[in-house]
Amino acid sequence: QRAEWALLKDQQSTSADGKTFVVGANIGSPKDLPAVLDNGAEGVGLYRTEFLYMESDHLPTEDEQFEAYKAVVEKMAGKPVTVRTMDIGGDKHLSYWKLPEEENPFLGYRAIRISLDQTEIFRTQLRALLRASAFGNLWIMFPMIATLAEFRAAKQIYTEEREKLAAAGVAMGDVKLGIMIEIPAAAMLADKFAKELDFFSIGTNDLIGYTMAADRGNDKVAYLYQPYNPSILRLINNVITAAHKEGKFVAMCGEMAGDPVAVPVLMGLGLDEFSMSAPSVLQTRSLMKKLNTADMKVLAEKALDAETNDEVIALVEAAVK
Ligand code: PEP
Ligand code: MG
Repeated sequence: QRAEWALLKDQQSTSADGKTFVVGANIGSPKDLPAVLDNGAEGVGLYRTEFLYMESDHLPTEDEQFEAYKAVVEKMAGKPVTVRTMDIGGDKHLSYWKLPEEENPFLGYRAIRISLDQTEIFRTQLRALLRASAFGNLWIMFPMIATLAEFRAAKQIYTEEREKLAAAGVAMGDVKLGIMIEIPAAAMLADKFAKELDFFSIGTNDLIGYTMAADRGNDKVAYLYQPYNPSILRLINNVITAAHKEGKFVAMCGEMAGDPVAVPVLMGLGLDEFSMSAPSVLQTRSLMKKLNTADMKVLAEKALDAETNDEVIALVEAAVK
């Protein structure tokens, strides 16, 4: 099987009937790039920049960040790199920057909520990203967006920094701007967001947790962490349908994107990009080649109309033999 996958390294990701998808990889630092390239990923669908902050003993300076982002886009040589602005908070802590203790950290002060509150830190990161954008194909997305107001505020700050750099004569690339869909509120309003951004990236790790109100790390409620629950699939479908109506692109960068049970359904729902841990890339490409999009559309429709997580698993097993 591994030998069969290796042959797919330099191939496109197409279904049996020739529909093309993008299969990308997730990274936490420039050190992860060899695995991305060795596995033939077509881009970086999620660069988790908080590791830059977590591995440092001080807030990374603009130049330190610039060097890291530039290294990544240069090594990817024109392939798209989607960089997520830092997602600190929740379970991610920094020794040098004390955030308030909270009773519910996962419902609290994290990610874009911090960035919009401590805007100097956010502006520094955006400047580093904009400068790096001159060296490759860089996209930027904001994590944990719940409301249109948050996205508009983040975009406004981004636009101000872009204009200041342009006035100073700094070279920059065309940057696509998007949000992560991790909060059900944003998934439900995807049609409104779609008019104002370039792309979505669905973060199913958090989206499932917030939709089912269940922490995967907690054994007592782990049974509620149900990726194929039709409620989750309907949220995903809502995002894809709304985005495509506006001609916008939809990626997924949560674990679900590389899950062989989910991939057939996601193909049927029309997801554009699947971004996963690098070792899953070739396996996913191989699976895609065996599946027909017309059949997967029928499967997806049945899955959306199903009642339970287990029913969807059975539908996938019957459709993919
Ligand atoms: C997600 O929530 O699915 C995601 C990709 O973000 P993270 O796993 O970093 O929270
Ligand atoms: Mg997340």
